[in-house]
Amino acid sequence: MPSYFHIAELVPPSIYERFGDQRSWNFVNRRAYKNLVKIRQYVGKPFIINNYRDGGQREWSGFRTPESPYFSPTSQHSIANAYDIICSGLTPHELQEVVQTHYAKFNIGGVELAPTWTHIDWRFNPNGELTVFHLT
Ligand SMILES: [Zn+2]
Repeated sequence: MPSYFHIAELVPPSIYERFGDQRSWNFVNRRAYKNLVKIRQYVGKPFIINNYRDGGQREWSGFRTPESPYFSPTSQHSIANAYDIICSGLTPHELQEVVQTHYAKFNIGGVELAPTWTHIDWRFNPNGELTVFHLT
């Protein structure tokens, strides 16, 4: 499996600083991650998730702890089951269209139609459908 993502892109700074390159993977959901890599491979363009390690502002686009200003106990981010993605080379709308067309191939359960990023999660929908929602 190609390693498109550094672990710091998937967890917030507090987790990465405490647990480092190895144990921070304990905060990554295996099924979500494997499918994230698959859709990244399919799209063939860089995905930006957290970018704090490279000096960027994004810290909460993967796993979220209660200290996050965006924390919600019912968010898929709180169970390491969601990523907010900015794709270099596709607009958010274009990536959202890829997700809505091919969600079954990547086992995606939810997509948020946000204006400047694409939220993808692996929630379980027993009917196999994709939950599509808008930023509220
Ligand atoms: Zn999100």
